[in-house]
Amino acid sequence: MLVSAKEMLTKAKAGKYAVGQFNINNLEWTKAILLTAQEQNSPVILGVSEGAGKYMCGYKTVADMVKAMIDELGITVPVALHLDHGSYEGAKKCIAAGFSSVMFDGSHYPIEENIEKTKELVGICNELGLSLEAEVGSIGGEEDGVVGAGECADPNECKMIADLGVTMLAAGIGNIHGKYPENWAGLSFDTLDAIQQLTGDMPLVLHGGTGIPADMIQKAISLGVSKINVNTECQLSFAEATRKYIEEGKDLQGKGFDPRKLLAPGFEAIKATVKEKMELFGSVGKA
Ligand SMILES: [Zn+2]
Repeated sequence: MLVSAKEMLTKAKAGKYAVGQFNINNLEWTKAILLTAQEQNSPVILGVSEGAGKYMCGYKTVADMVKAMIDELGITVPVALHLDHGSYEGAKKCIAAGFSSVMFDGSHYPIEENIEKTKELVGICNELGLSLEAEVGSIGGEEDGVVGAGECADPNECKMIADLGVTMLAAGIGNIHGKYPENWAGLSFDTLDAIQQLTGDMPLVLHGGTGIPADMIQKAISLGVSKINVNTECQLSFAEATRKYIEEGKDLQGKGFDPRKLLAPGFEAIKATVKEKMELFGSVGKA
């Protein structure tokens, strides 16, 4: 069932585990993630970037597809449909289209403007029973053309945003979107600890979950991270499985060119990646 992310993340924070946000790109992606969540009896968050929303013919198409799929597949675990790194306008569009959760990424604005815009969205989301994620301190790497340097958020600024009444808070702690470089310094647990001390029960969000070593993920969860975003890793496993199918010439055998056959290995690869992450994050059986 489609729900806001509030209850699942409150439970995750209290239970010391994290719920995965897996970004979707098309029907196969969405189906693979929903089926895996149901099989693992895990809550799940489907992430949609503004670019992916555009690619999938708009937020209404996405919301209607997700709702129909939940119904058609008999998905009973809690599912949140969440805008990832939304602009102020994008957040409003997703709310109108029927998303159950939005992120407003105002991290590139001066803190006063981030606060002002976040505050307005808190009011709208509270009224409609939607969850809202805010961000402080930009997260490294590139996402939809926005490049961040991977800075560490100011814990006091985190508290200012948390106090506005957002549902969950993303804070830069040295994490990066996409693949991590060889010389990556690792997560700043001192920063994370300081943020958690000031923000208390607020579920914290770790972006850029691809390639962070398992021990760092577990330590981050122990310090209050309750939502972990995974995007690149599903893309890599999908691409690898699809490449293998074609390199083995399977698309040339019989009706191997049928998209339902051609996309099947990638679909199974996404399922395996999502299952592995749910096990690592501790969300299996928590629906
Ligand atoms: Zn992100």
